[in-house]
Amino acid sequence: MDSRTTIEAMLRADLRGRTAYGAPQLDVPVALNTNENSYPVPAVVVEAITRAVAAAASGLNRYPDREFTALREALAAYLLRSGTVVSAEQVWAGNGSNEVLLHLLQAFGGSGRTALGFTPAYSMHPIITTTTGTTWVDGLRGVAGGGAFDLDVASAVEQVREHRPDVVFLCSPNNPTGTALDLDTVVAVHDAAPNTLVVVDEAYAEFARPGTPSALTLLQGRPRLVVTRTMSKAFALAGGRLGYLAADPALVDALRLVRMPYHLATQTQAVALAALDHADLMLETVGAIKAERDRLVAELTAMGLDPVPSDANFVLFGGLEDSHTTWSALLERGVLVRDVGIAHYLRVTAGTPQETTAFLQAMSDLAPQHR
Ligand code: PMP
Repeated sequence: MDSRTTIEAMLRADLRGRTAYGAPQLDVPVALNTNENSYPVPAVVVEAITRAVAAAASGLNRYPDREFTALREALAAYLLRSGTVVSAEQVWAGNGSNEVLLHLLQAFGGSGRTALGFTPAYSMHPIITTTTGTTWVDGLRGVAGGGAFDLDVASAVEQVREHRPDVVFLCSPNNPTGTALDLDTVVAVHDAAPNTLVVVDEAYAEFARPGTPSALTLLQGRPRLVVTRTMSKAFALAGGRLGYLAADPALVDALRLVRMPYHLATQTQAVALAALDHADLMLETVGAIKAERDRLVAELTAMGLDPVPSDANFVLFGGLEDSHTTWSALLERGVLVRDVGIAHYLRVTAGTPQETTAFLQAMSDLAPQHR
């Protein structure tokens, strides 16, 4: 028996045959496949981060602040900018919002429990769910009302009532489709499930179009509601790995039961704090990215394609004869986008104006059926 076969036989039965998360990390001139912020960290912040890490270095013989108190306070202060008063006790953080989601599933999911999401949504929601032994229920977005991928409230409420999940995922703005939810939908789903944890994944909140309020405004008086955020997107700090959530202090306290002690490294806390200290500078590119997103929607429409309106830093576009052929043809031209597994659609990140131009140029070079 080769070692692969031996390991496969030893593996948890529910993990056998699975494929790991694998957005390609290729060295290409134009990488628009993982919704990163294309702009480098500004020089002033690079200096501040360097100083902060240098200052922390001699103390690395000690464990980090397990409660990451200063960071929780800084994150609460950041959320206050968006108009919501959240105390440091309501904030939790992890190595990316993926880890924060993992903590939620470890605490509120598990064997014999279920989590429901409305597909297509963020591909890691089912993966994180099932790695914790939680059963994933693949809900449907429904088509009533607006666009092809809008979440139909009545259908969502019905699915929640039918499955009575322990955890419900909402994603707003939704990855990969791009559109944000209205708060009535969040409230309706929340109210349909009296014992369910409702997670609103707002990784892309800062890119939302005007008039799109955050579910943070709903937290008061709703102890089962959680809003997750990240510094990976608008904040241009994907490599820093810092995600966070806001929720009731009692819920935050429950997460201490599942996190590993000292899960946020000293240098992670130092980097995130230095970046938060320069929030205005770190967020300076958001307006330019939104402009590129809107340009992508307009130009793809002009090409006869079918982009989905977006509140995020990416655009899902349809109308392709064969999305995989288009994906490969773009890659041959040095442009990496994301095939999210929806037939006839691809997803492209809004980056710099030069990257948008390179993508649009590559698209227009393709044969008409592939653009
Ligand atoms: N939620 C959504 C909807 C995402 O698209 C992503 C990243 N692609 C994440 C969470 C996780 O991001 P991170 O772990 O970098 O915070």
